[in-house]
Amino acid sequence: MARKPIIAGNWKMNMTRAQAIELVEELKPLVADTKNEVVICVPYTDIDVAVQLCAGTNIKVGAQNVAWAKKGAFTAEISADMLKELGTEYVIIGHSERRQYFGETDASVNARLKTALANDLKPIVCVGETLDQREKNRTKSVIRKQVINGLAGISAEEMLKTIIAYEPVWAIGTGKTATSEQAEETIKFIRGVVAKMFDRKLANKVRIQYGGSMNPKNVKELMAMRNIDGGLIGGASLKANDFSLVVNFDK
Ligand code: PEP
Repeated sequence: MARKPIIAGNWKMNMTRAQAIELVEELKPLVADTKNEVVICVPYTDIDVAVQLCAGTNIKVGAQNVAWAKKGAFTAEISADMLKELGTEYVIIGHSERRQYFGETDASVNARLKTALANDLKPIVCVGETLDQREKNRTKSVIRKQVINGLAGISAEEMLKTIIAYEPVWAIGTGKTATSEQAEETIKFIRGVVAKMFDRKLANKVRIQYGGSMNPKNVKELMAMRNIDGGLIGGASLKANDFSLVVNFDK
């Protein structure tokens, strides 16, 4: 079964509401004809307006995190109910910047993932090794642990709704891209871990993105790899033209 490519923008902490309106309006016509899935994961404060502007288009809107708890005394967290009410469809979980700066762990990733799934939010779960881990030949053991612990306890049906993003930390926002062979090798490995957790047939249906300085110049080569099913795009998602060229990589 062919896996539909999914290109998701991660705006991170960029774009005020006014800037978001401008970017979405510029983007809409540029990606209107693609057969690929298009997602923009925007700051919480832009979700409302992004959902309104994307209604009736092929652009889906996602958040960049979700609380594991339903409600209550969790200052600064945003619940799944809050996101759903605004029309949010996707949510990034476990981005390396959350792990690095905000103490996110595989256990918190797993808790957030379960909450997202229970509330019909489509999760994009990020995994990836640091430069130090890669240089010490620990890439596979680090990734295996992140995948097994991050995805622990979800059902096969839930696994099929979950997207994994392989994002080598050393390639995020650095302009250094993993070579297509490096990305393919690790993503194939991740598919193998999913196959061991579930089964091969299911693993072949799970979509796994690459993320890390993906841009209009390198997208074709990365997307030509058998196991790479899309991209999670940071910097290049902040310019409508660049993001649309990534989305339209197959044109
Ligand atoms: C990201 O933030 O997920 C990312 C991949 O960023 P960039 O494309 O800027 O490296």
